[in-house]
Amino acid sequence: MRKTEDLNPYKIALEQLDEAAKKIDLDKNLHEKLKYPKRTLIVSIPIYMDDGTVRVFEGYRVQHSLERGPAKGGVRYHPDVTLDEVKALAMWMTWKCAVVNIPFGGAKGGVVCDPAAMTERELERLTRRYTSEIGIIIGPEKDIPAPDVNTNPKIMSWMMDTYSMNKGYSVPGVVTGKPLDIGGSKGRLHATGKGVAAVTEDILSQKGISVSGATAAIQGFGNVGSWTARFLYDKGCRITGITDISGGVFDPKGIDVPKLIEYTSGKKIPSLEGYPESEFEKNPEEANRRLIGSEVDVLIPAALESQITSRNAEMIKASVIVEAANGPTTPNASNILEKRGVTVIPDILANAGGVTVSYFEWVQDLQSNFWKEKDIDASLIDIMKTAFKDVSDISRSEKVDMRMAAYMLAVGRVAKAAKLRGLYP
Ligand code: NAD
Repeated sequence: MRKTEDLNPYKIALEQLDEAAKKIDLDKNLHEKLKYPKRTLIVSIPIYMDDGTVRVFEGYRVQHSLERGPAKGGVRYHPDVTLDEVKALAMWMTWKCAVVNIPFGGAKGGVVCDPAAMTERELERLTRRYTSEIGIIIGPEKDIPAPDVNTNPKIMSWMMDTYSMNKGYSVPGVVTGKPLDIGGSKGRLHATGKGVAAVTEDILSQKGISVSGATAAIQGFGNVGSWTARFLYDKGCRITGITDISGGVFDPKGIDVPKLIEYTSGKKIPSLEGYPESEFEKNPEEANRRLIGSEVDVLIPAALESQITSRNAEMIKASVIVEAANGPTTPNASNILEKRGVTVIPDILANAGGVTVSYFEWVQDLQSNFWKEKDIDASLIDIMKTAFKDVSDISRSEKVDMRMAAYMLAVGRVAKAAKLRGLYP
């Protein structure tokens, strides 16, 4: 094992691709092609701050692959965003769309900024200028952004409006995760959490555990963490710990999730801080340490990358980890968990519900024909359960863990499309 663990997400993504390529005996030339993003755009985003000064932010849009269709992927606003992180997230989007077999390639965007320290007007100016700058490579038939960490339906409205203003007509299909009134889809807001809950139920049932008697701990209580918690709670799962950037809420008898959602969503920036109904641990590091070592059936990281590393993988007592976040487990930690017999449902499968309903939203926008929520939810569950079964079958037949099985399926599908299309010119 290496002495110090390299947490660079792009290096991790390349390592994962290399391992899958070896397993499926991927053609060397195709392997070489898939290592690189197709397009990388770095933009400067100068905006007026509310005090009249100009500040310049750095932003990125990376398209990893367009082999199976237009590129698709979220936009992240965070002070720690780096180009390598966005490149990794774009590559993971390619594999994710392929695992659930939807006709998209992978992309991702990011802006280095701290939204918590900005006003709404500043965030709007930032979003509009960023959208204009990346406008040369996005579009409904080219690349379709969506929400990710610290971005939401309101930000998607500004992106859609800015792109439309530059075109001279409304283009709802340029982004997904929009509010319903401007071409958003029913079911999109909760889609990722619904998908995470569905695969959690599947893996528990494979292990002979009923979700209604199970226990879970969740890191992150934003869009993905809170909806995952809500769906698992509704299925009778007891959630004993939840953390976010402000600390953690713990209750061995089970957290009242609807009450917690009501509490956090009443704030300007949703936060667990000071929740009075259960024990609140206000030191975020201590809260995460406790959460990761929780005596639960399922641990669900739903925050950021590299949260489960070789430093804490030995502490994990859960027998199942469902990766709701992108890239939460490092390769070293994955090896430790595999040796310890912990089952990991990988991000590219577990959190694919969001992009699946984004695909439905895009189709609805292109057709100006909007579907019922019950049909959307049913199609989402059908796609997630099919993907879970496809990956499980490969895992069993090839005697590999679920992550490798998902990669074998995804890389194989993308490579097939790349081979059929050939190399231009
Ligand atoms: P979000 O901004 O809504 O929420 C992020 C949450 O993580 C917040 O509760 C924040 O406080 C918490 N957090 C941040 N740093 C933390 C830390 N060090 N410890 C504990 N909690 C911390 O973001 P989101 O949309 O819920 O995305 C979460 C993850 O899910 C990301 O990895 C994202 O890429 C992935 N994802 C999101 C979607 C989607 O539809 N939004 C889809 C697929 C994957």
